[in-house]
Amino acid sequence: MHSLNNFYRTIGLEKPESPEVLKSMSTFWNVHFLSNRHRDFIYKFVNNKLSINTRLSHFVENQSRLCTLCSKSNLNEIEDESMEHLFYNFFTTITKNFRLDFYKKYLPEENVTTWNMIEEKKMWFLGLTRNSERNNLFMATCFWVLKFLIWECKLKKGYLNTNFWFTEFENMLKGYLKVSKDLKIEMLKLNYNFCRTLTGGLIERNGG
Ligand SMILES: [Zn+2]
Repeated sequence: MHSLNNFYRTIGLEKPESPEVLKSMSTFWNVHFLSNRHRDFIYKFVNNKLSINTRLSHFVENQSRLCTLCSKSNLNEIEDESMEHLFYNFFTTITKNFRLDFYKKYLPEENVTTWNMIEEKKMWFLGLTRNSERNNLFMATCFWVLKFLIWECKLKKGYLNTNFWFTEFENMLKGYLKVSKDLKIEMLKLNYNFCRTLTGGLIERNGG
């Protein structure tokens, strides 16, 4: 199986030991309910084919290495656009409020602010919660949606608007929940409060 070794290096994480997690990462783009655009993004993400600026600068003359979103945010220091920076550091460190608002709104049950950096990165990149080596389809989907929205924002050179983001995040998940019963079943295993609001409180115990 494709091991994605280089991929884990680009996000600054050790290759996971769990065969289940490894398989999910290397095959997630194939999940049936994803939109084509989302699927294409995930495939490129894990196969090191996304056109991030540090990568582009090797092929394109005069291509800046600097981060598109930092440049748009009027920051004093603009960092290189690496995978780790764009999909993790920018949102967790540079735009601190986004991170805190996201955790407060969607994952208050997890107390993510008490986690260490590796634990938090595992959630952003692998969709795993603290101490969990077990893969959950819904959790993995949430963080693939989040990373997709970051990418769309970069492509549109957009500004960050938390309300817009959260609406998009929920709309994508709702759309996927409509077409996938598997996703709904996995969501019900998590018991997060926001999962109940996503389906408008219409969840039956049997997964209805
Ligand atoms: Zn940046």
